[in-house]
Amino acid sequence: MSEHIKTKLLVVGGGPGGYVAAVRAGQLGIETTLVEADRLGGTCLIRGCIPSKAIIHAAGQFEAMMHATQKPRIGISLGAPPQLDFAQTVRWKDGVVDKLNAGVGTLLKHAKVRVVNGWAKFTDGKTCTVTTKDGETTITAEHVILANGSAPVELPFLPFGGSVISSNEALSLDTVPKKLVVVGAGYIGLELGIAFRKLGADVTVVEALDRILPLYDAPLVEPVRKWLERNGVTVHLNAKAKALESGALVVEAKDGTIKLPADKILVTVGRKPRTEGWGLENMAIDVDGRFIKVDDQCRTSMKNVWAVGDLVGEPMLEHKAAAQGEMVAEIIAGHTRRFDPASIPAVCFTEPEIASAGLLPTDVHGDDVLVSMFPFSANGRALAMEAGEDGGFVRIVARKSDHRVLGIQAVGAHVSELSNEFSHALEMGALLEDIGGTIHVHPTLGEALREAALRALHK
Ligand code: FAD
Ligand code: FAD
Repeated sequence: MSEHIKTKLLVVGGGPGGYVAAVRAGQLGIETTLVEADRLGGTCLIRGCIPSKAIIHAAGQFEAMMHATQKPRIGISLGAPPQLDFAQTVRWKDGVVDKLNAGVGTLLKHAKVRVVNGWAKFTDGKTCTVTTKDGETTITAEHVILANGSAPVELPFLPFGGSVISSNEALSLDTVPKKLVVVGAGYIGLELGIAFRKLGADVTVVEALDRILPLYDAPLVEPVRKWLERNGVTVHLNAKAKALESGALVVEAKDGTIKLPADKILVTVGRKPRTEGWGLENMAIDVDGRFIKVDDQCRTSMKNVWAVGDLVGEPMLEHKAAAQGEMVAEIIAGHTRRFDPASIPAVCFTEPEIASAGLLPTDVHGDDVLVSMFPFSANGRALAMEAGEDGGFVRIVARKSDHRVLGIQAVGAHVSELSNEFSHALEMGALLEDIGGTIHVHPTLGEALREAALRALHK
């Protein structure tokens, strides 16, 4: 059976960019149809942010219990080691994902968005066909939002399959691999590598550059590096994965070729925008390198065709995709909006966590700059939560001449929950005096931010 839908707005992709756009458009009274080939929620809900954080949480619980069997900790000991049924852990994670997936469906329903399940292929800028289980549906629209997202990058000499896995498979394994080699020490590889180490895997990391988490400066990464060292994770820097030979990863390292036997090889060498297989070539849309080119309102080069999220550039993060989706819906509804955030905060859910908003000290040129740190080892709440001894700190980067805050970073346990205070301060154009003069609840980790501001003012 073939069907023809005419709609005011067509959204392609039910990830955070697409579903947020569709829900907001529906709330604003715009007749909206959303096409999703897979499950609602996209990479983030189904095989990204949420499942990875669930596995990271389970790994932390297991590790804490394991430590308590090895030696008593804060007066607590366990008589026998914890037992891990990883298949059950993965089923629990799937339950969390299912809840959120259903929640997105409900949000779309309340906003009166029509959802079409299938792969959209464009024949021109405003028309696509979708092969659904009931036949072919053609959709024409006045406005189109492209939110096709991204996929893991594959190394040509190490294609996914068998023992070579991407983050998708890593989040759905039945058992913890005995020997895991992670290729690429970016945030996805380290988040998952650390979780599997806590779950008992023997983990080795191979990174082509001379340091882990290359987006950050050395002091911010140092506590993570130390954790890896203390916990027996071998990290090969300046080392390039080259091939798979009889179950071992062949790596070209500084001092010659090494072979790393592995049960699983997790390849996390970045993500690529999904620009193929849906007729982009039929749409006369300009690209910017690998990404779709958009302006500061997420307009593409084609009138009334918009693009958001991982498809349009770095940073490939959920909250950027969602913010762009919401903005485009509002622009289509006639609001005046621009995508011009003071910062897009980011968190690495490693051990310990890293949170960052705005400029790093290394991003600032010249000497009109103040950099101030406050360690969690002097923060009461951190010490009372056993979170004061991992080398963590909060750091503020501010302009010396007018005390305007330019960037805030932290590394330490639980700092992900501070990241929104960081971006709030930047968005409000805070001065060091604003942060120093704000009463912070005692005892909290957030007090370290105020202390860092006061230290900067007393410099
Ligand atoms: P996606 O979420 O990729 O959604 C795109 C959707 O479009 C998909 O569901 C796809 O099936 C669908 N689609 C594509 N083409 C078509 C078509 N032609 N027809 C029909 N449907 C189509 N970000 C964070 O901010 N914090 C984190 O902690 C975090 N952790 C992550 C951990 C992992 C392991 C991974 C892989 C990613 C993580 N991310 C995280 C990144 C985050 O998942 C992405 O930035 C976010 O999902 C991007 O949203 P999007 O809507 O642009 O695309
Ligand atoms: P990446 O972070 O890209 O890391 C992949 C690593 O693999 C690299 O270090 C690379 O050297 C290594 N590698 C590649 N090939 C090999 C090989 N053959 N052998 C060994 N190692 C190899 N992106 C930006 O561009 N700018 C930003 O400012 C930015 N900020 C971000 C902040 C945070 C906290 C997060 C979470 C993401 C940010 N991103 C930014 C986006 C991020 O880089 C992408 O989402 C990325 O694609 C994440 O995937 P990844 O961890 O797999 O890869």
